[in-house]
Amino acid sequence: MQQVEFGKTGLIAARFGLGCMRFPKRQDETNQLVRYALDYGVNYFDTAYIYKDSEVKLGVALQDGYRHKAIIATKSPVWDITKYDDFEKYLDEELIRLKTDYIDVYLLHSLGSKNYESILKYDGFTFLDKMIEKGKIRHKAFSFHGTNELFKKIFDSYDWEMAQVQLNILDEFQQAGLDGLVYAHKKGAATVVMEPLRGGHLIMNYPTEIDDLLEKYPTKRLLIEWAFRWLYSIKEADVILSGVSTLKQLQQNLAIFEQGEYDCMSKEDLLLIKQVRGIFEKRNAINCTSCGYCMPCPYGVNIPEIFKLYNSVAMMSNHFIDKLVYKDSIIPSGNGAEKCVECGICKVHCPQAIDIPEELKKAHAILTDR
Ligand code: SF4
Ligand code: SF4
Repeated sequence: MQQVEFGKTGLIAARFGLGCMRFPKRQDETNQLVRYALDYGVNYFDTAYIYKDSEVKLGVALQDGYRHKAIIATKSPVWDITKYDDFEKYLDEELIRLKTDYIDVYLLHSLGSKNYESILKYDGFTFLDKMIEKGKIRHKAFSFHGTNELFKKIFDSYDWEMAQVQLNILDEFQQAGLDGLVYAHKKGAATVVMEPLRGGHLIMNYPTEIDDLLEKYPTKRLLIEWAFRWLYSIKEADVILSGVSTLKQLQQNLAIFEQGEYDCMSKEDLLLIKQVRGIFEKRNAINCTSCGYCMPCPYGVNIPEIFKLYNSVAMMSNHFIDKLVYKDSIIPSGNGAEKCVECGICKVHCPQAIDIPEELKKAHAILTDR
């Protein structure tokens, strides 16, 4: 298992990180999974206050001498913070759940525009600094869902030691994107990739045309192998999380990561991934190329970002995270489709002849639908 220096934290992490959101129901199976991973060389475990009983299960699994081998990363439920003292109250609860007296990497969870405002309002940065002083946490980090622009703004507003972003073969240009990941890495932060398979949807419900394409390619690999390979080829991606529920899934993932090397994708391989993405994009709701010629809208509507999310939801037929980005980031920033007054200024600039005001209405309905 490839190991990396984890940004400026001084930690050494395996490139494969275990996402702990989907642990097995039984504690003995969780123990087996976690300890198998640790014995194999995996040491990064990503959980959160909000992941049901995940912290409790991880805490139990790390008993019997395993705790000191693990890097525990867990997250504060930022949306439930209503005063400064709440931050430490939740952290203390997490320490009890995890049966530990410190958290290696502590994240403010899912910073989009709404949650970011909340941490500014309740002084989340002071909280992180104080908890480091008290020894309750070792490193300060955040996970992110929002636009690339917002990612850079949040990243530059504090001395973060790690940033966790969504990235996969479909999301190179979505949210923080590959550009955001590289940005954080260049500034010395560790980076963690989440949603490498978009919650599994990428390999569960994909067009059959993709199998035809992969079968014709000289190097035979499954879509899951290509998806992980594309990620571990990126040298700025320090740890790549994968959430597994069974030992078999873990072993399958580890076998793929055994071949993990930087820059392992040839030009032809990258072209193949582009073709795969192109097939997914045929499911797009709208032919927007994100050229930005329709911008700026005098009423603040972020047309290309809204259409990206609209297409992303259409591609995966109900992607929860895209809706979250819209509701928690785009709308609170004053850039939602509901701001459109149908003035038509944007329409004349669109080379794709998209009826922008009409499509914005549809996008808004889909993105605010549960
Ligand atoms: S039609 Fe709507 S989105 Fe386009 S410029 Fe006018 S207000 Fe903005
Ligand atoms: S001009 Fe048209 S294609 Fe370009 S970003 Fe705007 S809506 Fe999309």
